[in-house]
Amino acid sequence: MSYNRIIILLLTTTLLTYCSNPARPAKKRIIALQSIGHYDQQQLQFIRKELQQFFKTPIFILKETGMPASFINMSKGERYSADSIIKWLAHTAPDSISQVVGFTHKDIFTTRRENGHIKEPESTYAVWGIFGQGYMPGRSCVVSDHRLQTSDNKRFKHRLRTVVIHEIGHNMGLPHCPSKNCIMSDANERIQTVDNSADDYCKGCKERLYLNANALPLQLN
Ligand SMILES: [Zn+2]
Ligand SMILES: [Zn+2]
Repeated sequence: MSYNRIIILLLTTTLLTYCSNPARPAKKRIIALQSIGHYDQQQLQFIRKELQQFFKTPIFILKETGMPASFINMSKGERYSADSIIKWLAHTAPDSISQVVGFTHKDIFTTRRENGHIKEPESTYAVWGIFGQGYMPGRSCVVSDHRLQTSDNKRFKHRLRTVVIHEIGHNMGLPHCPSKNCIMSDANERIQTVDNSADDYCKGCKERLYLNANALPLQLN
């Protein structure tokens, strides 16, 4: 091999190495948990432990805050607007936090829409009770355990963990997944099927997360 060829080969190798390892400032993903109103602290510690193990990232607990009174809707009993909560959380969370997850024991709702209109029948979907909500992508999501209650504690914890990881997935840019063996399955929005949910993102969703993380650029562990 000629001297010139060696130089070219070295240059190519260097460029390839550089391109495949772009010098991005690796920002550590920091997730914070926010109790909204009185919240069971033992339950919050359980969630913290689960998320720490799952995401392998620091999980902080923010100081408890009250539920803004204006978020209430009384048309079907006491429910609070998940959309208002999400926007408020994103606005009030410290800048150092990548993502904030709000927790409430109160019932929460969203308005289901189709083609820009409230889904029919409007009486059902205008104030639609949900377990949790997170925009895709987004900096905040909210989870309510109001509709997850069961006397079976193990089942309750599984439901709670599933909904939290599902909503964080939406925030990290994951849509609903067609695989039934994935925590991002849309079946996780119905209590009948949430009990049978997978515990993890499927391979396809993990690949997507990796690409999203590189584009954002946030470091995924
Ligand atoms: Zn979902
Ligand atoms: Zn999936």
